[in-house]
Amino acid sequence: MKIAILGAMREEITPILEHYKQYEEITFGGNTFYKIIDNPLEIIVAYSRIGKVHAAISACSMILHFGCKKLIFSGVAGAINPKLRIGDLLLGLELCQHDVDITAFGHPFGFIPESELFVSSDSTLNEIAHKVAMQKGIILHEGIIATGDQFIANSTKKEWIGNEFKADALEMEGASVAVVCKNLNVPFCILRAISDAADMEADFKFDQFLEQSAKNSADFVIRMLELLKK
Ligand code: SAH
Repeated sequence: MKIAILGAMREEITPILEHYKQYEEITFGGNTFYKIIDNPLEIIVAYSRIGKVHAAISACSMILHFGCKKLIFSGVAGAINPKLRIGDLLLGLELCQHDVDITAFGHPFGFIPESELFVSSDSTLNEIAHKVAMQKGIILHEGIIATGDQFIANSTKKEWIGNEFKADALEMEGASVAVVCKNLNVPFCILRAISDAADMEADFKFDQFLEQSAKNSADFVIRMLELLKK
């Protein structure tokens, strides 16, 4: 089975490449993809670069060009829910785009006509994630993730996103990957480790915790891949 592992930044996929050690580099559509053979899995790994457009291009390439049948996103996010601490893992059950605004026509924030406000991730992949959490004896939070092309470092804006979408965390790629996968019928899950709290200190905390939080998420995905091999 071909499976896609997507991150946004190099730091988010480095632990995966370091774990498997052997991979083939393939360039396509302005991005680099890393092909790993781990029988019976063929794993295509990439970091898209930041934001919804880049993430959508990479997800499309992985599905339409490389033929991936499942996709797991691994990366970091800013916490909205105060229960979430730096390093904690969160599975996005539903994803939305907080920066979509055609409210002038009476639509709710985040809504695009002939599309869904919330896209749900795949329950089977999410169950596999919960099995890994049980095996590792760690807490895997789950909730709503709001995506937008903005780094949020502002408590007022974060609270607005939290209230409007009931979101637990925010980031810059998840919902676009969700839309691609849903439209192309590819089961997906979005895993994020918290790097900051999207507040005044977010840029500083992000720089401080990116590497460790990205590794928490990537190590977790490696365990999910082990279960997917069976
Ligand atoms: N420091 C980077 C930019 C990071 S953008 C640079 O200078 O190049 C933040 C990345 O982490 C995005 O990929 C996003 O998905 C995630 N993220 C983590 N915390 C976030 C926050 N508070 N707001 C938005 N995205 C966040």
